[in-house]
Amino acid sequence: MQTVFPAPQPSILPICDSKLGFPVRRVYCVGRNYAAHAVEMGHDPDKEPPFFFQKNPDDLDPSGTFPYPSLSQEVHHEVELGVMLKSGHGSIKPENALQHVYGYAVTLDMTRRDLQGAAKEAGRPWKAGKAFERSAPVGRVVPAADCGFLRSGKISLAVNGGIRQDGDLNQMIWKVPEIIAKLSDLFQLGAGDVILTGTPAGVGPVSKGDVLLATIEGLPELTVEIG
Ligand code: MN
Repeated sequence: MQTVFPAPQPSILPICDSKLGFPVRRVYCVGRNYAAHAVEMGHDPDKEPPFFFQKNPDDLDPSGTFPYPSLSQEVHHEVELGVMLKSGHGSIKPENALQHVYGYAVTLDMTRRDLQGAAKEAGRPWKAGKAFERSAPVGRVVPAADCGFLRSGKISLAVNGGIRQDGDLNQMIWKVPEIIAKLSDLFQLGAGDVILTGTPAGVGPVSKGDVLLATIEGLPELTVEIG
């Protein structure tokens, strides 16, 4: 159908060693998925059911620059494994979940922690704290066909050369197949969906001019300058 103005284009993420891109449909994020991070945020690390929130598809940003957002004085870094789906549907069983994974990328779940904290206190949604423009810097996508399914490996984040976050993917409370299964019980998953799988301990504030280096073993590193 003809549209009344040009239809917005989907976000497309660069893929390693490919001229093709990964088109984004939806972005889901998992909260408190590493025990030590749950503790640092003041919560019980016991295995509670996972909970989810969303960012907008066009919040994913491969540019390598993160503009300090408006209306916040406390913006935190959270390094996370991003999982890209090539297919999906509702009610996926954990044992069948990995067949829907296209690949992975290093991602950051940048968070206006002050706005998120105020929302938590008021019992309101986290939207303004989490789903703002360019809030999800993302590295190049690596197909699982090239790197295998990632179950363990170092995940880290340094600010200006100083290590802040240092964990292992095997510390996830809910593993990737379980996350996909739980999400698919709630939502119809599909090709182009991106899942940010939670952050290890050590989150903290960033300032203008900082340079972040995010790494996950087996994936290209992600460098982001705070602008
Ligand atoms: Mn997060």
